[in-house]
This record gives sequence, C-alpha cells and structure tokens, in this order.
Amino acid sequence: MSRRMKKNQLESLRKMLNEQKQSLLEKVKTNVSSSKEDLPNEVRDSADAASDYYERELAWGLSETERMRLQEVEDALERIDGGTYGKCEGCGSQIAPSRLEALPFAKLCVECRSKEEQSKKNNF
Ligand SMILES: [Zn+2]
Repeated sequence: MSRRMKKNQLESLRKMLNEQKQSLLEKVKTNVSSSKEDLPNEVRDSADAASDYYERELAWGLSETERMRLQEVEDALERIDGGTYGKCEGCGSQIAPSRLEALPFAKLCVECRSKEEQSKKNNF
C-alpha cells in the first residue's frame, strides 16, 4: 500500500502531463498557422490524409526534442490510464514520487536512467 502512489498524487501528475501536452500542441498550432494556407481543404476529408497531415504538422511545428517530449508525455498519460504508471521500465521497481513530480513522464528510475546514459556515452 505504501509503495503505491496515492490517487490524488497520480491525478496531479496527470494534470501536469495534460498541461505539458496542451502547451506543446499549442506550439504546433502557432508555428504552422502560416503554412496551413498551402494545404487544400479536401485533404482534411480523408482520414488517411488527416493522419499524414497531423504528422506533417508535427514535423513543421515542433523541433525533434519537442516531438520526443510530446511522445513521452502521451506515453505517460497512457501508462496512467493503463495502471502501469510509476513503474520503472528497466527494473520494474517503483519510481520515486519525488522524481515523478520533477519528471512526470519518467519511464526509468534514477539507477536505470544513469545506466542508460552510461551506455549511450559508450556508444559515441
Ligand atoms: Zn529501474
């Protein structure tokens, strides 16, 4: 019980993640608003084209770091819904709540994170 995150804690992290997601999506809208005029209206009628368009929109509107961040935020929201949030993907242990408050989209505990960074450095 004590190892599980409290419900209100989880809700406040979900709120933080949603706010980050919104601000990233706002950025997309602002950045691409000038390019939108190039796009024919009928493109929006097709679901496939809409999804392509969404990807292009992301590509235009966000830097790679921001796109990765958006992905991380969306993944974290999915983990909250799926009930796996707060669990380290590396070792399966509970990520410290203080770490999640600082980095709500963290997938790895501090130890696994530093191991990962170590191995990345070795690859370079
Ligand atoms: Zn871990």
